[in-house]
Amino acid sequence: MAQPALHAQAVEAGYAGRSILRGLDLAVAPGETYALLGANGAGKTTTLSLFLGFVQPTRGQVRVLGADPVVDAAAARRQLAYIPENVALYEHLSARENLAYLLDLAGQGLGRDAIDAALARAGLDAAAHGRRVAGFSKGMRQKVAIGLALARRVPVLLLDEPTSGLDPQATAEFSRLLGWLRGEGVAILMVTHDLLGAADVADRIGFLDQGRLREEVAASGAERFDVRALHRRYATAGESA
Ligand code: ATP
Repeated sequence: MAQPALHAQAVEAGYAGRSILRGLDLAVAPGETYALLGANGAGKTTTLSLFLGFVQPTRGQVRVLGADPVVDAAAARRQLAYIPENVALYEHLSARENLAYLLDLAGQGLGRDAIDAALARAGLDAAAHGRRVAGFSKGMRQKVAIGLALARRVPVLLLDEPTSGLDPQATAEFSRLLGWLRGEGVAILMVTHDLLGAADVADRIGFLDQGRLREEVAASGAERFDVRALHRRYATAGESA
């Protein structure tokens, strides 16, 4: 792999002396979609926090397109959009106003046309651009967050449980959007429990087990992944504990 978009090497990290990541090695290339699966508490969200610079490694190295989140968290975060399971927005503002405000805060102010174009590209209906987000569904909120990432032109997306609570149609729409982002060269690291969804969109699936990658499986051939074999591995993750 040339320079990975996301790179963790032999990372040990945790909270208040409690070790969570124990020798994590993970690399995601530009234009690659990587799904990270694993049991509750395996350290998936901690891995995302590592790249954002919210959790600092006690050993090993972390890089976001060459930037070290420990030394310069702002440089790392400029390259990233983090989309949590429940996207927080300013409820009394419209989708368009949320983007305008958040882009201004990021020092990347854009005009209305560019904002509308980003929201449309993220799949939000034009009729919703000017509506208060208070009434938005989870899927619509996610589109606003992805619209923001598109407007910021970030090369890396971190997604935490993006499809939990989405109906099948919204999930399929979301998968298509990820496919398009991948084609644009965006690196995507998604944390999920949705094995089928992961098999649908990911280039590689990694199983995190007690803070390290137990196994990585790459898509190959027309079938991409052997989902039954993946399920067996997923269901037994953690049994070696
Ligand atoms: P899940 O699938 O349940 O979301 P996960 O794999 O994302 O799990 P993490 O959220 O990374 O797991 O949590 C790993 C462990 O670290 C858990 O035991 C959790 O309780 C603990 N932990 C997470 N965040 C903190 C924190 N801010 N302070 C202390 N402990 C934390």
